[in-house]
Amino acid sequence: MLYFECPKCKRIWQYPIDMCPFCIIEVERKKGEKSKVIGSSKVVIGSLNHKKVPYYGLLLEDEKGNRWAHKSMNDVKIGDEIQCNVNKDAISIWRIKYDQLEAIEEINKLLDFLPNKKDLKVLIIPQINVPNYSYFRDNTSPEFLSTMVEFLINNNVKKENIKIATQSFDETPIEASAQKSGLLDACLKKEITPSDLSKSNFVKQGNLEISEEVLKADLVINLPLLKGGDTCTTKNIFKVLKKENYSSLKYLKDEREIIKELSVALPNLINIAEAEFIQRPNKTIIFTGLILGGKDSLKLDRVFSEIVFHKKLPELINDIEINDIETNGRQIEEVRYNIESY
Ligand SMILES: [Zn+2]
Repeated sequence: MLYFECPKCKRIWQYPIDMCPFCIIEVERKKGEKSKVIGSSKVVIGSLNHKKVPYYGLLLEDEKGNRWAHKSMNDVKIGDEIQCNVNKDAISIWRIKYDQLEAIEEINKLLDFLPNKKDLKVLIIPQINVPNYSYFRDNTSPEFLSTMVEFLINNNVKKENIKIATQSFDETPIEASAQKSGLLDACLKKEITPSDLSKSNFVKQGNLEISEEVLKADLVINLPLLKGGDTCTTKNIFKVLKKENYSSLKYLKDEREIIKELSVALPNLINIAEAEFIQRPNKTIIFTGLILGGKDSLKLDRVFSEIVFHKKLPELINDIEINDIETNGRQIEEVRYNIESY
């Protein structure tokens, strides 16, 4: 559990504040490591957003005495520790609780996606589709992109080894969308010049023509922003292909086949999807407070659809059985939220 402590008076806040209002000095960001159950209530009558019962309202406490509430589908005993293990193949679900950096750190604990390699070269592919301000939630938010860069730097990835790149698949120039969405600014603040993949060299691999920039990276982070009624994680991966190559493949083949070939060609790709504030199918914005991660983009999009109660599954994932997907971190039932009913 993340908390903020004043180094002088030792007062604690669970939400981020910059200054202690009593001592007027900067607070420190700290973290408890263990979460022990100190109280549990079984809920047997469902409510609007918690229809599936029984579930358990737990009171957790860390070793520093910080306490917080936690919904669980499992009956956990008082005194038990809440623990999550690494599972690189599962779709990991976590809550963004005030702090995106903590959420990315927790997703890394579940997925262990950062290889331990000297001079690790990382390429981040943000979702930049529409020349729109970030509050419309069409594109990856500038905050999430900046936080991912911060996470990498905190984990000893050199700034000069981090690249941010994508391309436009329509008539809108990528520069226009990058500028209006605030993502260009986010890159420049981190002193990283983003690049346009359409201007890179493309290497032929079977039917695919993949950007050389992507193939050169030790780790490729697909960084989409999820959206109601869509499969943003998978769609954003197509951006590594040459635009003309993608158009002709899409005409000839099922997109599922393209993504299957792509996942073989890109074994170093990990999907870290933002779902804190998302666009509903009617374009209004809603708070869902989530982050999802995993290697398989189709499974990740399917898990998201299950969480937000899509009435009709998008075509790309309508044959994926949710019960066949292994999840880690939080359970789907703990974080489900019907985004279409309000
Ligand atoms: Zn203080």
